[in-house]
Amino acid sequence: MLKKCVLCKKYTLKNRCSCGGEAVDAHPFKFSLEKERKYGKYRQQAKTQ
Ligand SMILES: [Zn+2]
Repeated sequence: MLKKCVLCKKYTLKNRCSCGGEAVDAHPFKFSLEKERKYGKYRQQAKTQ
């Protein structure tokens, strides 16, 4: 799973970056996009009522 270093912001597949920084899942961005899409649909329905 793709991870991103919290220190140098580089993408890595390891838990720890070569710079020594901790690498965290690079997922939250994609997850928030899907969430936004769901709420966007809900908003459209609410608007037509
Ligand atoms: Zn790093």
